[in-house]
Amino acid sequence: MPAECNVRPSAAIVGAGFGGVGMAIRLKQAGFDDLTIYERGESVGGVWRANTYPGAACDVPSHMYSFSFARGDRWTRRYAPQEEILDYLERITDGFGLRPHLRLGTEISEASFDEATGRWTVVTEAGDSNEVDLLITACGQLTTPAIPAVEGIEDFTGPTFHSATWDHGLDLDGLDVAVVGTGASAIQFVPAIAERTRSLTIYQRSAPWIVPKWDRGYPAWERRLFQRVPARVGISRLGLFSMFEAFTYAFTGSDWMMPPFRKTADRFRERELADRALRRKATPDYDIGCKRVLFSSDWYSTLARPDVELIDEPIARVTAAGIIGADGVERLADAIIYGTGFRSHDFVAPMEVRGIAGRSLNEEWARKPEAHLGTGVSGFPNMFVLYGPNTNHGSGSVLYTLESQFNQVVDAAERLRESRLRYLQVRPDAQARFAAEIERRSADTVWVNGGCVNWYLNEEGQNTNNWPGPWLEYRRRTRRLDPADYEFVA
Ligand code: NAP
Repeated sequence: MPAECNVRPSAAIVGAGFGGVGMAIRLKQAGFDDLTIYERGESVGGVWRANTYPGAACDVPSHMYSFSFARGDRWTRRYAPQEEILDYLERITDGFGLRPHLRLGTEISEASFDEATGRWTVVTEAGDSNEVDLLITACGQLTTPAIPAVEGIEDFTGPTFHSATWDHGLDLDGLDVAVVGTGASAIQFVPAIAERTRSLTIYQRSAPWIVPKWDRGYPAWERRLFQRVPARVGISRLGLFSMFEAFTYAFTGSDWMMPPFRKTADRFRERELADRALRRKATPDYDIGCKRVLFSSDWYSTLARPDVELIDEPIARVTAAGIIGADGVERLADAIIYGTGFRSHDFVAPMEVRGIAGRSLNEEWARKPEAHLGTGVSGFPNMFVLYGPNTNHGSGSVLYTLESQFNQVVDAAERLRESRLRYLQVRPDAQARFAAEIERRSADTVWVNGGCVNWYLNEEGQNTNNWPGPWLEYRRRTRRLDPADYEFVA
């Protein structure tokens, strides 16, 4: 254990998903031991604890989906299922001694900064409070389920739930089930439940771009190889990173790279869907990459089943017994499952965060969330937002973002320790310059001009969620805090 334990700064980390767990490990490794990780759930895991729907798995290859400082080496498949990822998080929580720092079942309702002391007070739902030097939010971008505001939604008398709050008590065998949405979650759970339901009616507002998921199990010898020769995993990571980086270039202006991606998806659809009418319904009418490109080798074959119907129009109304589509036809259902995504612009909400002079982060972010390099916010000193605005990937692994941001936070913690500063905060001009840069660079991306509605843009069409550039650049710019961008207050 490092010599300097329990030294300033102390930190409160809100959330025990990949962000919170990884951040705590990196801070401990840097000698900061006065850490409290608040988690409203009853265990660590974040989205991987919440999303337990049938078929839940990562659509980023497993070798890319563990921290570089805590490599996962027990994956049984190329694309790890949810239970294995959750198990990885539990194991690193134990392995790095995080248990004593965890406050499970504890939701932080508010956090406020005191300029005189340079400290944050965090308050739990139960009314307990704690004072710390650093506030680190690790709340994720895909935490709060979004249920569409459709007329009659309360009228349905059968069981109904969102993919992120799956009702495992409901036996779907032999039921007529309606599914709303065809995003990353639905394309995983629909094939997994189609074998069991009597019929499935899928409501699709817009068709996703799908490429085959070249998944496979790892035989025992290969798993042993990964465990004994870490360099083999390292080579894999490098290859995958380069591939994802190529996709990123394609999505952010180098659209001459798009045709091969599009051709792969088109050919796959043509091969899988013989029925022309169904193929037409399943063909996207916007540019590839505008919404997340989905990996699935069983989505199209599921759509082609005789007991599955794809309705390619939005839902008009929910009734007591089913759903009325835009065509005015009511289709009956025993259960409705919403695979309708998340409130991706909420970031830290519903937690109330108050900075200098009581400024409310949620109010300032209501129109357009902005953070310098996606982590620091002017007026909110000694606070870092993990996986904040403009740090999501159009393609790639969010763990790369998080590790980049950990570097910034550790640097900030070291500066607070070494210089005995009261606080540090992003300069407003640095934040404004960064916001302008994001806006300028986003104009060239497929997310903004690809002809779709996606969860990366706000209502005004501004990119609030994705990083519009290469990830190597993001890593370089977040390696340390740039002193020119920060104000240091003694
Ligand atoms: P999503 O991709 O946002 O998909 C939501 C779906 O619901 C879309 O098809 C959307 O239609 C539809 N929808 C939303 N509101 C609707 C309404 N009012 N009426 C009809 N349809 C409506 O959500 P998700 O599938 O939960 O995935 C969210 C994100 O989670 C993904 O993009 C990905 O980043 C992450 N995820 C990752 C994995 C993984 O393996 N790593 C797995 C699952 C999810 P439109 O397309 O027309 O908007």
